[in-house]
Amino acid sequence: MVNDLQKGTKETKALPEVHEVAFGARPIRFVVKRTARRTLAITVKPDTSVVVTAPRGAGVEAIKARVRKRAMWVRRQQEYFSRFLPELPPRRYVSGETHRYLGRQYRLKVVDGPGEVARLRGRFIWVETKGNGESGRIRRLVNTWYALHAKERFARSLVECLARFQGRVVAPELRLRRMPKRWGSWTRRGVIYLNPELILAPATCIDYVVTHELCHLVHGAHGQVFYGLLGRVMPDWQERKERLERAGAETGAEGWRACGASGAEGTGGSLSRRMPSRLSAICDPESAR
Ligand SMILES: [Zn+2]
Repeated sequence: MVNDLQKGTKETKALPEVHEVAFGARPIRFVVKRTARRTLAITVKPDTSVVVTAPRGAGVEAIKARVRKRAMWVRRQQEYFSRFLPELPPRRYVSGETHRYLGRQYRLKVVDGPGEVARLRGRFIWVETKGNGESGRIRRLVNTWYALHAKERFARSLVECLARFQGRVVAPELRLRRMPKRWGSWTRRGVIYLNPELILAPATCIDYVVTHELCHLVHGAHGQVFYGLLGRVMPDWQERKERLERAGAETGAEGWRACGASGAEGTGGSLSRRMPSRLSAICDPESAR
């Protein structure tokens, strides 16, 4: 009886018309929306889903043929949007969850106590808080701990890296700043910004970003002289950069840069591929209006 009722309600809802076409390692799935329009149009949405708007009478094979023909374009748009999707599940700040620090994994351990403090204890990030500890409070304690250690560790890295320049660079001011998709930045006024997220990466990678930014205080642009200097003061910078890219991919910071490979030359600061403030669906330019 119950089953019949449930079945009944399900059947009254119009199910979306979903199809797929084979393409490479992963088929392209798409939803067909029937409208009064007379031509087909393919749209890729920011969540990477694909919608084909089709005339009411259009045959499934004809629709599939169009998607197959435009499959490469569809996959390109999906790849573009997927760069902006969160790649890791959001943090829950509960005991047992793993968090990174200086390239190593630590487990979060939340214990009841009067301390209201987070500290490193063996392989644990140990958080002491009253009662069960509400996740917002634990997050704040953990982030405060990260920020404190980031400041200390980055300052140490700056002193060590500065020595590589043998007096050629005046000690800049170091500031922490959350920046989209980049690890560091600099200004002509002698300020270096580091992304606090960099504290998740191995120390050797932190030194690479700091050294890269210090090189900018001598040569603004990413030209030959810039890389010449970087190679002299840090001959293994490329290995460190690759390691940082791997570490970044593991912590959801895929594709982040030390700072931009292009743009903003000579103006101070740096650019990298920034996330557009708003993403909107992309319509196949070959679709007839
Ligand atoms: Zn740079």
